[in-house]
Amino acid sequence: MSNIVAIVGRPNVGKSTLFNRLLERREAIVDSTAGVTRDRHYGKSDWNGVDFTVIDTGGYDVGTDDIFEEEIRKQVQLAVDEATSIIFMMNVEEGLTDTDQEIYRLLRRSNKLIYIVINKVDSSKEELPATEFYQLGIDKYYTLSSATGSGTGDLLDDIVKDF
Ligand code: GDP
Ligand code: MG
Repeated sequence: MSNIVAIVGRPNVGKSTLFNRLLERREAIVDSTAGVTRDRHYGKSDWNGVDFTVIDTGGYDVGTDDIFEEEIRKQVQLAVDEATSIIFMMNVEEGLTDTDQEIYRLLRRSNKLIYIVINKVDSSKEELPATEFYQLGIDKYYTLSSATGSGTGDLLDDIVKDF
């Protein structure tokens, strides 16, 4: 069975930017099936010779944080059902929000491997503000700039190691 990595998080944190970066030079597989896969994009990627499928979630990406709790729950549940590993993305620009805390609460109920990623850490000056995410009660997070690609290597090293 192939390894499936889902990217989960509220709108505008940078999920699709990371998804597109992971799919660079690879052909995206856009699932046109109606129904539960409607809001999701699938693609193939690889790291250090290990192949995996990436899911970009977020049919609720409407550019605001005004999401129905039910819609978040649905997206998170779909990701948890389908994926072997979950990238939970937040961002340092907007900081830790109530929606982030709600999503993390839902994710923790699953037995899937969860990688907590703080995106938009474009330079070292954003490392210190990122420490506010320890408020989630976590031991470790990955800081990333999906825009430049910095940090993605460390994250992928760990993800493929855990497959
Ligand atoms: P999504 O809604 O979570 O899929 O977020 P998108 O990938 O669409 O990105 C939302 C916005 O954040 C876009 O304007 C991106 O260009 C921007 N963005 C994404 N990643 C980064 C990053 O690492 N740094 C900065 N500064 N902006 C980013
Ligand atoms: Mg998106």
